[in-house]
Amino acid sequence: MNRITHWIDGKSWDGTAERTAEVFDPATGTVTGHVDLAATAVVDEAVAVASAAFPTWSALSLARRTSILFSFRELLTRHATELSALVSSEHGKVPSDAFGEVSRGLEVVEFACGISQLLKGEISEQVSTDTDAYSIHQPVGVVAGITPFNFPAMVPMWMFPLAIACGNTFVLKPSEKDPSASLFLARLLEEAGLPAGVFNVVHGDKDAVDRLLCHPDVAAISFVGSTPVARYVYATAAEHGKRVQALGGAKNHVVVMPDADMEAAADAAVNAAYGSAGERCMAISVAIAVGDAGDALVAKVRDRAQRLKVGPGTDPESEMGPLITKAHRDRVAGYLDPGVVAGAELVVDGRTHDFGGEASGYWFGPTLFDGVTADMDLYKDEIFGPVLSVMRVGTLAEALALIRTNPYGNGASIFTSDGAAARTFQRQADAGMIGVNVAIPVPVSYYSFGGWGNSLFGDLHIYGPDGVRFYTRTKAVTSRWQHAAATESNLVFPTNT
Ligand code: NAD
Repeated sequence: MNRITHWIDGKSWDGTAERTAEVFDPATGTVTGHVDLAATAVVDEAVAVASAAFPTWSALSLARRTSILFSFRELLTRHATELSALVSSEHGKVPSDAFGEVSRGLEVVEFACGISQLLKGEISEQVSTDTDAYSIHQPVGVVAGITPFNFPAMVPMWMFPLAIACGNTFVLKPSEKDPSASLFLARLLEEAGLPAGVFNVVHGDKDAVDRLLCHPDVAAISFVGSTPVARYVYATAAEHGKRVQALGGAKNHVVVMPDADMEAAADAAVNAAYGSAGERCMAISVAIAVGDAGDALVAKVRDRAQRLKVGPGTDPESEMGPLITKAHRDRVAGYLDPGVVAGAELVVDGRTHDFGGEASGYWFGPTLFDGVTADMDLYKDEIFGPVLSVMRVGTLAEALALIRTNPYGNGASIFTSDGAAARTFQRQADAGMIGVNVAIPVPVSYYSFGGWGNSLFGDLHIYGPDGVRFYTRTKAVTSRWQHAAATESNLVFPTNT
């Protein structure tokens, strides 16, 4: 049986785990491996190794750090198809979709390759006689990354390329549901020449996370996952004196105006609602149809949803894979009957969709509801499955009010041909990432990714310029050099002369 274990100090851990968890192929429901779950002592070992690696790594020149990142970028490009297949085998998303996540992670590596430009400080000459002032950005120490199941390659790459480029060392605690991608990345980093101990992986569950959150030698925590856990991670890590950013769940809206290109809007809604079986933090789960947009939108989404090919990633024709676990599939299915009882119209029922895989897989087809209202669980909860709820309102202002009162605020999009409506939306929608005729507005790597409200706890977004700020601390230096020092003791608070 495939044993999946920790990666500490540049090698696989050779201890014996007290606890393990099963890893499944969601397309067949079969167990494909057992992952070791780290006890406190194992987390401590990884943090000790990362702490020991920090002085040397942080002192390495920018030129040499960058050269390792460039090598890693080349290796990642070369092995992207292999990594995508691995992601597909444990997550269930189809390989073409997994390739998309690897590509978006690669973008962050490319951004990190420019670290020598990004770490520049500021300088002001002659702020006082013979005195200059400048700022420098230094790494924070050991950074821990805690990541969710839904992007086992991309989300770790939102974190570690920049963290290590800034001179930090890293301990990754990936999701125990699809742990193998993290080890694939660890081996590529080693091959790229990253010194042992700079990047470590500990597998585990709440026990491992709790140890990282209170470990005195962990300086910063980057977390991505569900809102209840994000809130807990933020509070606990902050209580233990750490810098923390905790990205949470989402309920993303797309507003479809009556003047929108309805074919494009329907295509975008289908891609964003059903891609990766809806298991994306930027998935569109609510379409707000304004005015008379609803009938055309629902008809077009229905036709497309019914035609989607649901099947295993091993079939190149599959467009959508299974859900991550049986429990999650059953939870998603549990929204359908109560949704009907609450008064919504079930237009496409995912329970009856044909799928091209083994019956033991965690299948659930695209589902479409119409006539959903804000008081329904269908609207209030993050379902995290291929369920799209259509709501109908009269005006853009009503659509904006719905987005404003929703507690999440990750992404929000509008489809329209009216520039003024788009601009109003961009200014007034309460969300961290806005799409205009773009349904999944994940920012490119040189901007930063983050939501508002219950979608992010902390001040700084992830990757991009915010990532550089999060993984460094700033020092302001005031420096005087003069040929013939004319000093005298003076107890007055220093003023600039
Ligand atoms: P999750 O919160 O269950 O798990 C995330 C991580 O936290 C995992 O590593 C897990 O082992 C750990 N964890 C789980 N329960 C814990 C607990 N009680 N205490 C401490 N640690 C715990 O999330 P998930 O189901 O793996 O991922 C899906 C969620 O992640 C969705 O809500 C999705 O919206 C969110 N997500 C958000 C973003 C974003 O950028 N905002 C991106 C991807 C996923």
